[in-house]
Amino acid sequence: MSQGTLFIVSAPSGAGKTSLVRELIESLDGIQVSVSHTTRVKRDGEVDSVNYHFTTVADFEAMIKRGDFFEYAKVFDNYYGTSREAVQTLLKAGQDVILEIDWQGAQQVREQMPEAVSIFILPPSLGELEHRLANRGTDEHAVIARRMRDAVSEMSHFNEYDYLVINDDFTTAFQELQSLVISRRLTLTKVSERHAPLLDALLSQAPSVE
Ligand code: GDP
Ligand code: ADP
Ligand code: 5GP
Repeated sequence: MSQGTLFIVSAPSGAGKTSLVRELIESLDGIQVSVSHTTRVKRDGEVDSVNYHFTTVADFEAMIKRGDFFEYAKVFDNYYGTSREAVQTLLKAGQDVILEIDWQGAQQVREQMPEAVSIFILPPSLGELEHRLANRGTDEHAVIARRMRDAVSEMSHFNEYDYLVINDDFTTAFQELQSLVISRRLTLTKVSERHAPLLDALLSQAPSVE
């Protein structure tokens, strides 16, 4: 079976990556989002092991020591990390996998897996970014201020990514993201792996015509 493709999706907090990725995995078969570990507090409505594996700092640090993380980083004073085993298992089973991670994590993943496809999502303006963070209603004013302060430094890494999507109109951004995933499934390598018997049959000796 052909290995799945690893997609990295990064964006400043509030740009819409979680909403876009949720829509994407509902719209296509064979693609899953990796559930990260984090030490940040759970927001209202978040579910453990669905949105994140919510972890104590001590447990997270023990996982670092054991080498359990494919990548990890400190973002807004909290640890976030991707479990190596979970991602490898899904890729080996032929699933495409999305990592919603920050730029530091993206750099670590590219070093280990240069074939990963990375996508940066940008908001249409800083004003709209702040508006979305406030409207989402999940974070205190001070938390929003912190995220806005870090947004510009996160966005300054946009040029390390393979693709850029601007999330102004949601449907347009979603279709662009979906097109990227579909186009990666249509590369010569992927189609030849998936349809080896068909290619053999098509290229076997042509029947003689009377
Ligand atoms: P949101 O982006 O506003 O939904 O806020 P979150 O608290 O869910 O995520 C905060 C930051 O952590 C974002 O920049 C994410 O990309 C990043 N992040 C989430 N999970 C991971 C992870 O497993 N690894 C890394 N490196 N970053 C992560
Ligand atoms: P992130 O995961 O990048 O922090 P979210 O997916 O949580 O971002 O989106 C932040 C807020 O912005 C959410 O309330 C979401 O519904 C809203 N949102 C996302 N995309 C758009 C868009 N294109 N137009 C308007 N609001 C949006
Ligand atoms: P939030 O706390 O709002 O869910 O996420 C904040 C930021 O942490 C987001 O920008 C998100 O991309 C990043 N993040 C979430 N999970 C991971 C992860 O597993 N690894 C890394 N490096 N960053 C993550």
